[in-house]
Amino acid sequence: MSDAPRVIAIDGPAGAGKGTLGRSLARHFGFALLETGLLYRATALRVLRDAIDPSDQPAIAKAAKAIEPADLADPDLRTEPVGNMASRVSAYPEVRAALLEYQRNFASHPPGGAKGAILDGRDIGTRICPDADVKLFVTASLEVRALRRLKELRDRGEKAIHGHVLEDMRARDARDTTRALAPLEPAADAFLIDTDGLDADGVFAAALGYVQSRSEVTRSRL
Ligand code: C5P
Repeated sequence: MSDAPRVIAIDGPAGAGKGTLGRSLARHFGFALLETGLLYRATALRVLRDAIDPSDQPAIAKAAKAIEPADLADPDLRTEPVGNMASRVSAYPEVRAALLEYQRNFASHPPGGAKGAILDGRDIGTRICPDADVKLFVTASLEVRALRRLKELRDRGEKAIHGHVLEDMRARDARDTTRALAPLEPAADAFLIDTDGLDADGVFAAALGYVQSRSEVTRSRL
């Protein structure tokens, strides 16, 4: 049995419930969690704060390379303007390349002495960690995801309008799924979870059942 850290990859569109699931699985297994969207958001925040030209790919890649763990805790990362800019800059090959090492390093050396890592994003199972022990693809209809995002924003005290959130999400989906590099798609060996009719506990139970069945296959690596 290998001593390599165990890796769980979670991919899916915005608002599908990846973050909540990742946190629950990380708590359950005592694994370190990286929400990789935060890396793109932190890059986007630098673009907005430092007034970097949003079409200046090399300058944005440089900003991406300079991201440090402390940058991922900024509360402004979760706002919609930052999310939209993140979706834009994430289509740049130089930006994706600049963030690759951070993600792979997290997976191979999970911080805090954790025995495993969970990475959630769009291309974890397909490109960042193609050899992940477990790959989950979490999805839900556009309408359900928009309603969840609306609630999340309002809970944080932001003035969010349903129609705008829905349209932003539709545009983000289109960019994420049609970009030439690392488009959002399930890995061939990913386990699909449709979260439309499930609450957070239901999603966790479905994922945990699969992870445990995989652990038997991989001789209790997890
Ligand atoms: O997941 P989150 O909404 O925080 O991600 C913000 C944006 O970052 C997404 O819309 C997507 O374009 C991009 N992203 C990506 N690859 C990842 C994670 C996020 O392209 N692995």
